[in-house]
Amino acid sequence: RESQAKKFIRQHMDPDSYPNIGSSYCNQMMRRRDMTKGRCKPVNTFVHEPLVDVQAVCFQEKVTCKDGQSDCYQSSSSMSITDCRLTNGSKYPNCAYRTSQKKRHIIVACNGNPYVPVHFDGSV
Ligand code: ADP
Repeated sequence: RESQAKKFIRQHMDPDSYPNIGSSYCNQMMRRRDMTKGRCKPVNTFVHEPLVDVQAVCFQEKVTCKDGQSDCYQSSSSMSITDCRLTNGSKYPNCAYRTSQKKRHIIVACNGNPYVPVHFDGSV
């Protein structure tokens, strides 16, 4: 089955499409990356930075995760991201998302050996 590390890449990494992101980005990408199968994943963030730069966050500032776990890290640089949020009226299987581009410090949870991102906790 898919590793946690691969799942993070599938759900959160999109280094190449920036800055050509339009209003239908999330509708297309959430489907293309298999987050609209079985249900519409309600919120998800894509990061438009090189994978090595996102992996490096696991060795940056340690912060507490939203769930209280202590394995989260905040990026020292702000990063280009796109937040996808399911619209209020959206009904499965028609998953409709609002696309918002931001520059934020990302917070990820890391795990494993090699120690790599496995969960996107948020952005500040
Ligand atoms: P995401 O949270 O990145 O949107 P998923 O919920 O699909 O995506 O998967 C997150 C994975 O990361 C799960 O396998 C979860 O067990 C793992 N994980 C590791 N550390 C944490 C943490 N501190 N908070 C939440 N999930 C974590």
